[in-house]
Amino acid sequence: MNSRSSTAIRQALQKAERLLIVTHIRPDGDAIGSLLGLGLALKAAGKSVLMALDDQVPTQFRHLEGSELINRSFQRDYDLAISLDCSDKSRLGQFGRDNLEWDINIDHHITNDGYAKINLIDTEAVATAEIIATNIEDWGFQISKPVADALLMGILTDTIGFRTYNMRSDVLRLAARLMDLGANLPELYARNVYQKSFEAVKMWGSGLSRLQRKDGLVWTMITNEDRSEAGYPGKDDADMINLLTAIEDAKISVVFIEQPNGKVKVSWRAVAGVDVSQVAAEFGGGGHPAAAGAELTGKIEELYKIVLEKTYLHLRRGQ
Ligand code: 5GP
Ligand code: MN
Repeated sequence: MNSRSSTAIRQALQKAERLLIVTHIRPDGDAIGSLLGLGLALKAAGKSVLMALDDQVPTQFRHLEGSELINRSFQRDYDLAISLDCSDKSRLGQFGRDNLEWDINIDHHITNDGYAKINLIDTEAVATAEIIATNIEDWGFQISKPVADALLMGILTDTIGFRTYNMRSDVLRLAARLMDLGANLPELYARNVYQKSFEAVKMWGSGLSRLQRKDGLVWTMITNEDRSEAGYPGKDDADMINLLTAIEDAKISVVFIEQPNGKVKVSWRAVAGVDVSQVAAEFGGGGHPAAAGAELTGKIEELYKIVLEKTYLHLRRGQ
């Protein structure tokens, strides 16, 4: 952990009165948990805080206190701009475009390009929410129950319930402390790790029916038609990629998700020792060694072959 950045963040947070805090588009649990965890803690200390992101808050996170305060737009009357869990400005949607300058960038992605004045990037952290939970009291703010719930949710979702290869015993101690401060582990685990809507599981069925395998690579795709047939409202894969990681001899799993706007979202997952963030970066995306993603423009029937070929080459080179 970069202690100089952490000290600079403490000073900046203490001094600021009006803060803009933003996270990435297609937000996952860590994005929402980090945004609410830091945002609510600063608010409770009397700061004026605007929490924002250029997307809807996914329904599964709306049970969290404060989620109704998250905005899609913003005014420029803030004195400190913070970006959370976001490796590069292009993932901020409109917030990445309007020539906005970022004061603070807190993240755990290995592909983070350090676009802010103060960058606190800890690639060993399992979640951005872990970095916030570890530091927030040193920065001078309290962890209330809603803050503890948000931060534990971020940690739980990015570790898929404490089971990713980057898990450390420290994370379990931090989670225990968040529980002591009021976080409801079983409820968060149910709502945000394993429960899915009927429509999501029906859509999995379409994806699973097309499952393919070649040596250590398994993949499938979800089309716009699958989504509408199942009545699934989101644009994502409903975490189907995590099902594929259950396949015992898969070294890399890939899901292609057709998007309504003519794009294709790709999700990669890898076992320990294989780094898929490099393949994702080749396609303009990014992420972590074990979990990465990218968004490509084109037809799914053509793109998937190109992506699989590169992924397969990468797997063979790494062995
Ligand atoms: P997922 O496959 O769950 O969408 O994403 C896995 C990881 O890759 C996450 O940590 C996420 O932040 C990162 N990621 C996903 N999509 C993109 C993308 O389009 N660009 C970048 N830079 N990272 C991505
Ligand atoms: Mn994260």
